[in-house]
Amino acid sequence: MKVLVVNAGSSSLKYQLINMKDESVLAKGNLERIGMAEPLLKHTPQGGETIEIHGDFADHNAAIKQVIETLMDNEHGVLDSMEEIRAVGHRVVHGGEDFANSAIINDEVMEAIKANVELAPLHNPANIMGIEACRKMMPNTPMVAVFDTAFHQTMPQKAFMYAIPYEAYERFGVRRYGFHGTSHKYVAIKAANILGKPLESLKIITCHLGNGSSIAAVDHGKSVDTSMGFTPLEGLPMGTRSGSIDPAILSYMMEKKNLSCEEVNSILNKESGMLGLSGISSDFRDLHSAAVEGKGRAQLALDVFNYEVKKYIGAYAAAMGGVDCIVFTAGIGENTPEVRAAACGDMEFIGIKIDDERNRTVRNRPEYNGEINADDSKVKVLVVLTNEELMIARETLDLVF
Ligand code: AMP
Repeated sequence: MKVLVVNAGSSSLKYQLINMKDESVLAKGNLERIGMAEPLLKHTPQGGETIEIHGDFADHNAAIKQVIETLMDNEHGVLDSMEEIRAVGHRVVHGGEDFANSAIINDEVMEAIKANVELAPLHNPANIMGIEACRKMMPNTPMVAVFDTAFHQTMPQKAFMYAIPYEAYERFGVRRYGFHGTSHKYVAIKAANILGKPLESLKIITCHLGNGSSIAAVDHGKSVDTSMGFTPLEGLPMGTRSGSIDPAILSYMMEKKNLSCEEVNSILNKESGMLGLSGISSDFRDLHSAAVEGKGRAQLALDVFNYEVKKYIGAYAAAMGGVDCIVFTAGIGENTPEVRAAACGDMEFIGIKIDDERNRTVRNRPEYNGEINADDSKVKVLVVLTNEELMIARETLDLVF
């Protein structure tokens, strides 16, 4: 049983073909610069070299056609026919309040995804283009939409409401939605497996720390709070995003620098966070090297990030009335022991104690099984590699078969 996972951006299309028998990746790739000059498809079949295909891919229809042809290619392909793809799972960023779960795509679901474009004007239209192109190419293949927001729809109202006039929620849907839901759900399930306990018995804090970062409180398997909000700008400072700031800063800066809404939005999304603070880079690898060399404000940026992660861990432990397990995942969470050590440092008062050696070497030591806490730590602390594509494929399989 083979499931194709598609993540369509406005000018890119990422895909993975997964064999659900053993959950292995048969092929994966990314077609970039759709509709632009010199589009490029990078395709990697299982166990093979990455190949590059140049072509004229004017839109998502041309892109998906090329992807399917490449998957069936005599030399680099892994399929004999398109019919071997039994289902397609699509990543969709925003499901609003319409979707608390993944959904089999039909006309009604498409209408609901379109109705949520307003909430994610940069992302949902691209996701829709990807779905429509696939439906055109594979009209008889079942498709499923898996939403970044769905996992967080279990948040109680006290966690998702902003204290602004209620009308903003009723008329315009202004509330906390949360994002990275597929990743938070995947790592929470995986953590419960590692610990050998039912997910429904655990209080877990999942820290998805990557270019975009968010933290979630997962209480007995349900998301009860998360740091991203109405948009993915809220919460932790990120690579180039500010995270939460005093909202009055916006009008103050707009007045001082004579900025438009669009300009101030761009500054908060593209010029802030680690890049804005450090003046060096948005990438943690660069920041750690620069900090060692004492360059710029790299250490300050790292300190601010680590401090905010720590604050969310404390806050969510309080929100859930305790915590059994903390999970670190995504680019930074998986690869940066310094962040994990700082965020969990001096937290013995709530039962969190890291083992330095395990923390430094966990990725190369299978015997640790992801565990980086000390033996006498009350709270388990795990490093879990996220796999949003696999989660999308699993949800697709569950719904279709
Ligand atoms: P993601 O968005 O999950 O792909 O994470 C991307 C971020 O993770 C990058 O911007 C880096 O800051 C960080 N990252 C990725 N790999 C490493 C690594 N090996 N060491 C330190 N940071 C890393």
